[in-house]
Amino acid sequence: MRRGRDPDAGLAPWAALERTSRGRRHAEPPADWRGEFQRDRDRIIHSNAFRRLVYKTQVFINHEGDLYRTRLTHSIEVAQIGRSVATALALSEPLTEAICLAHDLGHTPFGHAGQDVLNDCMREYGGFEHNLQSLRVVDELEERYAGFSGLNLCFETREGILKHCSLANTRRLGDVGQRFLERRQPGLEAQVADLADAIAYNNHDVDDGLRSGLVTIEELRGVALFARHHDTVHARYGELPGRRGVHETVRRMIHDVVSDLIEESGRRLAAARPADIEAVRAQPGPLIGFSPERDHEHREMKKFLRARLYQHEKMQATRLGAGQVVKDLFEGFMADVARMPPEHRDAARALEAGSGAVGRARAVVDYIAGMTDRYAFQEHARLLG
Ligand code: MG
Repeated sequence: MRRGRDPDAGLAPWAALERTSRGRRHAEPPADWRGEFQRDRDRIIHSNAFRRLVYKTQVFINHEGDLYRTRLTHSIEVAQIGRSVATALALSEPLTEAICLAHDLGHTPFGHAGQDVLNDCMREYGGFEHNLQSLRVVDELEERYAGFSGLNLCFETREGILKHCSLANTRRLGDVGQRFLERRQPGLEAQVADLADAIAYNNHDVDDGLRSGLVTIEELRGVALFARHHDTVHARYGELPGRRGVHETVRRMIHDVVSDLIEESGRRLAAARPADIEAVRAQPGPLIGFSPERDHEHREMKKFLRARLYQHEKMQATRLGAGQVVKDLFEGFMADVARMPPEHRDAARALEAGSGAVGRARAVVDYIAGMTDRYAFQEHARLLG
């Protein structure tokens, strides 16, 4: 028997309740004092993969400056937004937080540049999806328990981590992949985490983009959401010195989209009144979402950032360099797995014995995807002398 508070107390009937959880892959006695989703969150925080996020690129490569977001601070901002929304909607806060903190655990070094190159390298061997890799980290790769590999998280946490998945991969994932085949929805906490991710990066990338000088306030004023709040700040405070004007604008943008998300989702939930999480999963579409107007503005900002920041020519140069590092690592380790540290070399031999070159490639990619930016540079220097 667990001692302490009932983790389901005060939650809406459509929330992920621990008493109806589909549970863990390996049965474990209940935690003393903590709820099971809280325990999942704590396992994620104690994992190796979580600590590595501190030296992984979000948008700007780690050595470009100390103030830019890293995957770690991004994940914490996602969790903060997710928790606010979950609490307002009487959903499970620890489950939402667990999903948010884990959503990028499988991200490669060098952000999307790293992931695109790894996916190219893996074309003949089943591909690489960072989302699926996050699940692989918590299901297989973390080595912390005597009785099993991975963190043995609850189904609901794993369901939330696997945001999307190609149909080719769903079949071999079993229970957690099933919903993509059946076109079912994930639980509401997973839906919240997904949008909290988008809100976090849309807003912190405005801040980081301005800091980098790659985008300007004048350009951003072409985006309705930014212009509206920038006007409000200007009308109220006039010309603010330093970065205060940017921060006053960004915090208003976050508040605006988060409030809209809570209100619109509240309306949808009140109309649909799903009896429980199973009824949420059976809905034809997500119940967590923005109003049409805010959704439009949110997408407009996303498009702006893609065109003006992520695809900026200065970013492209960095991407090419980082991509080459990842490609060299993949080719070097594929050619000779003994050049990896012993535990990865052994994993490669074991996987190769089971499924040939596909297995070897999977072990190589597990090693590379786990690297931080700076470790990838170090390994690259070691490999190429
Ligand atoms: Mg993310």
